[in-house]
Amino acid sequence: MPEFDSRASPRQQAGARSDARRAWARAAQVGVMALAAALPVLLCAAFMRYEAARLVRSEAELASNFVVNQVVAITERARNAARALVPRAAEPCKTLAAALTLGTATEPYIRTLNIVDGDRLACSSALGQQSLAAHGFVIGNGRLPRGDWLAIVPHTPMVTDRPALLVSVRAPGARAVIAVVDSQYLIDLLHAAAPLSAYRLAELRVGTGATLREGNAGTPAEPSPVVADTRTLLAGSVIDLRLYGEPAHLNDLWGSLLLRYMPWVVAFSAFLAWLVHRVQRSRQSRREQLLRAIRAGEFHVEYQPLYGVESGRCEGAEALLRWVRPGIGTVRPDEFIPGAEEDGVIVPLTQHLLKLIARDIMLWGTRPGFHLGINFAPEHLSSADLLLDVRRFMGVIAGRQIQTVLEITERSIMRNTDQARRNLDALRAEGVQVAIDDFGTGFCALSYLEKFPFDILKIDRGFVLTIDAEGRSAVVLDAIIGLAHSLGASIVAEGVASQAQFEYLRSRGAHYIQGFLYAKPMPADVFSRWYSRAGSAVCANPAVTAGH
Ligand code: C2E
Ligand code: CA
Ligand code: CA
Repeated sequence: MPEFDSRASPRQQAGARSDARRAWARAAQVGVMALAAALPVLLCAAFMRYEAARLVRSEAELASNFVVNQVVAITERARNAARALVPRAAEPCKTLAAALTLGTATEPYIRTLNIVDGDRLACSSALGQQSLAAHGFVIGNGRLPRGDWLAIVPHTPMVTDRPALLVSVRAPGARAVIAVVDSQYLIDLLHAAAPLSAYRLAELRVGTGATLREGNAGTPAEPSPVVADTRTLLAGSVIDLRLYGEPAHLNDLWGSLLLRYMPWVVAFSAFLAWLVHRVQRSRQSRREQLLRAIRAGEFHVEYQPLYGVESGRCEGAEALLRWVRPGIGTVRPDEFIPGAEEDGVIVPLTQHLLKLIARDIMLWGTRPGFHLGINFAPEHLSSADLLLDVRRFMGVIAGRQIQTVLEITERSIMRNTDQARRNLDALRAEGVQVAIDDFGTGFCALSYLEKFPFDILKIDRGFVLTIDAEGRSAVVLDAIIGLAHSLGASIVAEGVASQAQFEYLRSRGAHYIQGFLYAKPMPADVFSRWYSRAGSAVCANPAVTAGH
């Protein structure tokens, strides 16, 4: 935060504050542009990363589904071959040996077919009749489970250097038929799936046995996430294939997506940054246009008289800013005031307005207590400049016996209640009055009215328009007038354009009337002449005074 020299004058302090504000605004502009340029690129990079990971997962799921389906098909064939031997499983090995050999020779994938009896190998297509201990098939604790089961074993009694898939089918008595499937088929399958998904490691578990591993099982520098985990149930056993991703593959995929789409995104980012720059420039130029117009004296003020219902004459006026642009003509305040607020020029513009009003007033001969309504924007109201500016204005017009009225909208009240409230309290204590402008159009919570210091309620033209020619009651307007009465506020009805509206408002106790029925806004010199001729004269009907 900038520090302000306590010995500096209030003006110097305000200047330092506005320099600091400008520096912040410039930094914010650069920040917004950098954000506009960087955001699409960052979002695209993040989205491509997500997309690459999604692709890796879907490739891996495809590959693992393919492998598991094939494992199931191989296992089913082996089970069918084993099942075909079940009816003969009780026969002696002598008579069975030929059938076992035939089965092995004719069925695909099967290395041997075996009959086990309890824990003993009773007959094998590879060894014939031998009564070996069956724990040559190492499973868990070495005991063979009963019933139908599947398991991968690290080796078999005949082939001790290669794993095998055992497919066991229960046979009568303590017997079972075990088909031995060579693990090479399963490993080949995993190889065949590799082009579908560049995994780092595949782990196949079948039933309760060992895990068949394929790929790079060493400890990887980067942890490999599980990219697919496919399970299925067969013969009461779980077949589970887990694929671990290859981080380098994910990065390659990400890189190729970035390469494909990033040039477009960079082009879009550049376009966006250019667009933001253009908007900033046009704002800047709008701001500069207004500041230049102030310097060039293109603004003047028009004054719209206020008719006092009780006194029957002009009791005040509202100052309305006008911008006459060379070569363009008069620009309505509705067109440039919102822009001035947006671009942060409203405070210097209102300061300029106060100077113009102070200059105009010097030419008038208004009665003491003449109300002068001046519109203040929300930003000004809640800024520290307000007190300085209004006090300075009051100092300049001191002696003219003018009643200054700050016209503020409901928006201002809602925006920064505390600061605005403090400012208004201070100014009211010095004799300034506060009017709530366009009342009823700004979504103001009614509870604010009780807390907020104000003297006058200006009823918006929209409500005055609800009065019809027959003078039937306008319900919302009546409610607003009732509210103002009970809060002890003076009522100004805006935009009164017909006799019927005037009669209606007078009958409901409105204190002041502002509108084309009485008088239109007029330049300072015209107003001055009008005031000395018609405005100061008492006249029961405001329409009679019109025709300035
Ligand atoms: P506002 O404060 O409600 O001002 C009254 C507007 O209603 C004026 O329009 C006035 O010409 C118009 N008006 C008055 N009587 C009638 C009527 O009987 N019929 C119709 N149709 N209109 C009527 P103007 O001068 O164009 O001002 C428009 C708005 O611009 C003002 O509304 C005010 O919000 C803003 N404005 C004007 N001057 C200033 C200013 O110096 N500072 C700020 N912050 N705002 C200003
Ligand atoms: Ca106003
Ligand atoms: Ca108004």
